[in-house]
Amino acid sequence: MAFKVSRRIENLPNYPFVKVNAEVRKLQAEGKEIFKMNMGSPDLPPPPHVIEQLSASAALPNKHGYSGYRGTPAFREAVANYYKEQFDVDIDPETEVLPLLGSKEGLVNFTLAMVSPEDTVLVPNPSYPTYEMAAILAEADRYVMPLTFDNNYLPDLDAIPADVAEKAKLLWVNYPNNPTGALASIEDYEKMLDYCKKHDIMLASDNPYFAIVFDGSKPISALQVAGAKDYTVEFMSLSKSHNMAGWRMGAAVGNADAIAALLRVKSNMDSGHFTPVYEAAVAALDKTDQEWIDARNKVYMGRLKMLVDALDDVGLELESEPRGSIYLWPKVKDGNDEEYCRGALYEAGVSMVPGSIYGEVGAGYVRISLIQPEENLAIALERLKTWYQNR
Ligand code: PMP
Repeated sequence: MAFKVSRRIENLPNYPFVKVNAEVRKLQAEGKEIFKMNMGSPDLPPPPHVIEQLSASAALPNKHGYSGYRGTPAFREAVANYYKEQFDVDIDPETEVLPLLGSKEGLVNFTLAMVSPEDTVLVPNPSYPTYEMAAILAEADRYVMPLTFDNNYLPDLDAIPADVAEKAKLLWVNYPNNPTGALASIEDYEKMLDYCKKHDIMLASDNPYFAIVFDGSKPISALQVAGAKDYTVEFMSLSKSHNMAGWRMGAAVGNADAIAALLRVKSNMDSGHFTPVYEAAVAALDKTDQEWIDARNKVYMGRLKMLVDALDDVGLELESEPRGSIYLWPKVKDGNDEEYCRGALYEAGVSMVPGSIYGEVGAGYVRISLIQPEENLAIALERLKTWYQNR
């Protein structure tokens, strides 16, 4: 290449899944059958009324223009109504909701909206890589908050040095947690919010797994804490809650000034969704009953049980069972996570993610997604067992 890329891009690592997926595609091109349990892309379809609404809207002649930078009023209202019904939180659809092209871009653009190069971003570890990547793009410092079994996978806010707290601008948290499957309680969010208030930090609650909780737990939003809106923006998404990952439909919800800053970035960068996608998203939020969500979560729980029962035979062990999300986060009993995942992929045809992708604290762990039906999972586990026991 005759020209240099920007310093910002020079410093930005490739997104880890680019490599994971390229390896899988290469093996598939060689004719190998691979069971993908790597990404968080649900295999099950959205509710039928969502697809019906998309088709009906797309067939109309007046749905094909630009839809506006803030999405349709009906979509913003549907998100506000959803927060009221699910979490008993009052949200102003005019100023406290902004649609996103999937929550991922929202995490990055929010960082760009809130963080300057002299600021620090507080990032959990292990965590979804985008928080750190966004901070790198914003040329800001990162401070790592380890999430471990011993601290219930919650950030130890007291361990953050005073000079870091002073420079910190954003605190990223994510419950139900990717990759550990841990949940946070209202009391946990209260502590986070107290900390944020004390140090003038924005609580960025990344909550795409809100609807996927196991064993009778209730979905929780950080915005349920009294006064949360002064310091919190939450990122919700239909990718996992309604099996709509490819639709790229999410929303930022919370502090109006922060939402306005995010809108300033985004209105200079994108022009929103296709109107029929907003209308289908409204159908998803308004018309999906709890039975559909419960039945879907039961499917994940069935897969989880199969995996938990087989872990010992395939050289993995759990510190604690996931309480939500679509992941399992076992430890490799002997050997390291990279080697384990390479062996599983090349020798058993099962693609999982080495924990170190989620940060150095994740080294030694493996993330397994619950995205294969039970019949495939049975074959994948047999193959893993044969490989592991004959290494
Ligand atoms: N946050 C977390 C923790 C995730 O795991 C993901 C996707 N796997 C996202 C955000 C982004 O999801 P989407 O862009 O599909 O809404």
